[in-house]
Amino acid sequence: MKAKRSLGQNFLVDTDYQQRILNAVQPRAGETIIEIGPGHGALTEGLVNSGAAVLAVELDQELIPALHHQFAAHENFRMLAADALKVDFCVAIAPATSARVVANLPYNVSTPIIQHMLVQRYCLRELTVMLQREVVERMTAEPGGKEYGVLSVLVQFYCEAVHLFDVPPGAFRPIPKVWSSVVRLTVHETPVVAVRDEALFIELVKVLFAQRRKTIYNNLRAGRARLGLADEAAIEMVLSAAQLDPRRRGETLSLTEIAVLADQVPAHNPSPGS
Ligand code: SAM
Repeated sequence: MKAKRSLGQNFLVDTDYQQRILNAVQPRAGETIIEIGPGHGALTEGLVNSGAAVLAVELDQELIPALHHQFAAHENFRMLAADALKVDFCVAIAPATSARVVANLPYNVSTPIIQHMLVQRYCLRELTVMLQREVVERMTAEPGGKEYGVLSVLVQFYCEAVHLFDVPPGAFRPIPKVWSSVVRLTVHETPVVAVRDEALFIELVKVLFAQRRKTIYNNLRAGRARLGLADEAAIEMVLSAAQLDPRRRGETLSLTEIAVLADQVPAHNPSPGS
């Protein structure tokens, strides 16, 4: 069957790397595992054989019959023909209340899928996923580098992110242009730094990194309506209260500094998303 580029289909055919991912996950009998995009079942077989309850979510209708044929006899396998971006995982895993996620993610929607899963983190303990190496570098980046941005802050706010290993293009068919990496995201019980208002914190992160070459002052000025900051004086006041130099750039700010800044933004009238 021809791989569909529109669905990010680069199938992992190298059995050593399939096994390395399964070894990293160590699936256990009785737990619930969600696999996004099982494809031809490269990882699914090992997951099902472990005895874990596997919920496989596949968008490509043409792959479903073969997956059914291969795994339907296993009581611990369940198939959801759906777009992972639209699935409410906390509902889908019921009666289980918590699951781990395993995926060789479709590259074209890998970041939206991660963001969608972070929203549903209350029932997801851990995500072991393969994505483009460049995306994993952004997820795990420290402040101060060019990879550090919105994705780094949001992922590290909610999860501990550990880069596990790289996978060369030759491990896939068709062969992609870029390297991939496997990352483990372990969801924190509560975000790693305390903030008064999570939605406001997320909005602030987006504002601070809206234009990377601008100072935080200029980014705050451009996005002040989204944060309910009345005018320049209000911006200067929150920066000063957070003891931040207005000339700094977003990429230099640690999670703690952003959290402190978020807590200085007055609680009244924030209008996230506007
Ligand atoms: N797991 C297989 C492997 O490792 O060989 C396939 C991985 S392939 C990179 C991505 C898989 O995700 C494909 O099977 C594709 O059809 C599926 N997919 C793409 N977009 C999806 C979506 N929005 N929701 C669920 N599955 C999706």
